Amino acid sequence: MPLPPIDTDYLVVFLSELLNTPSPTGYAYRAIALTEQALGAFPSLELGRTRKGALVATWRGANNDAPRALTAHADTLGAMVKEVKPNGRLKLTKIGGFAWNTVEGEGCTVFTRKGQPLRGSLLLVKASSHVHSTQVGDLKREDDTMEVRLDARTHSADDTRAQGVDVGDFVSFDPRLEITNGFVRSRHLDDKACVACILAAVKAISDAGLRPAQDTTFHISNYEEVGHGAAAGIPAQVSELLTVDMAAVGEGQASDEFHATLCVKDSGGPYHHGLSERLRELAETHAIPYKVDIYPYYGSDGEAFWRAGGDVAVALIGPGVDASHNYERTHLEALTATAQWVAAYLLSE
Ligand SMILES: [Zn+2]
Repeated sequence: MPLPPIDTDYLVVFLSELLNTPSPTGYAYRAIALTEQALGAFPSLELGRTRKGALVATWRGANNDAPRALTAHADTLGAMVKEVKPNGRLKLTKIGGFAWNTVEGEGCTVFTRKGQPLRGSLLLVKASSHVHSTQVGDLKREDDTMEVRLDARTHSADDTRAQGVDVGDFVSFDPRLEITNGFVRSRHLDDKACVACILAAVKAISDAGLRPAQDTTFHISNYEEVGHGAAAGIPAQVSELLTVDMAAVGEGQASDEFHATLCVKDSGGPYHHGLSERLRELAETHAIPYKVDIYPYYGSDGEAFWRAGGDVAVALIGPGVDASHNYERTHLEALTATAQWVAAYLLSE
């Protein structure tokens, strides 16, 4: 049976909304709520939240003897205010694993506890070439050498606190989304691209009047970037967990921006061979453009569930994303391939 068609316009519109919804890990509720609202359009899905704040949607399948789960994460890299500095600027602490130079110069939003969110930008403490000359290039980018310059009249810590800013406020970096010639360039495609691919697959199956082959749980994680997102929230009776997360593109990698990738091994070791083989066969049956790859510095929510004691087969697929945890980019071809692969898996006996 051919796969139902993927509505790429729907995929791109939802992805754009999701990318433009700030959701650093620990403060991802807006992205979870947006995804919940979008899944609410499909009446066959039962929606719920875990106590930790993840979104869980279940779809009754034709069978329930081997129930399945899929996970993707809506949380992203970001930061938190570590100190309000004497000059009124903010020292940050990172949320998730990235290098400061990847967000240097980026616009950001500080979410204050009581007041309005404040805008600003992340800069080197010695930012001006006319003042600091070669130090602008030479200074090592570290927690102590980066600061947020708020777009507010603040000259002291007290001025800044008077704006409602304090230690512990979440900070999001602007995604700077742009879509050109099928390329989707944005921060946080990891892993919002895959949340959108899952939704597009659900829509394709739903629009065709079909349902999954097995009872299926969709787990939209809110703590993946710090390593324990899917440690909770996957039902115990599930026999397989398909993790949908970005593929690492770069020198020496098989993945690219025009294919979906099956990851067979990452920093956490090999994925489940039997489930990975089935996914390869599904991709071949349905002529889905795919690659097989190994990610050298990478962990997934599937492994988080394994480490938490999950007794399931785990596999990992996702679109190729260039410059991950930096200013990322993928292509519609990789997104469509991933959505098709998810649909193929959901419908497979
Ligand atoms: Zn990810």
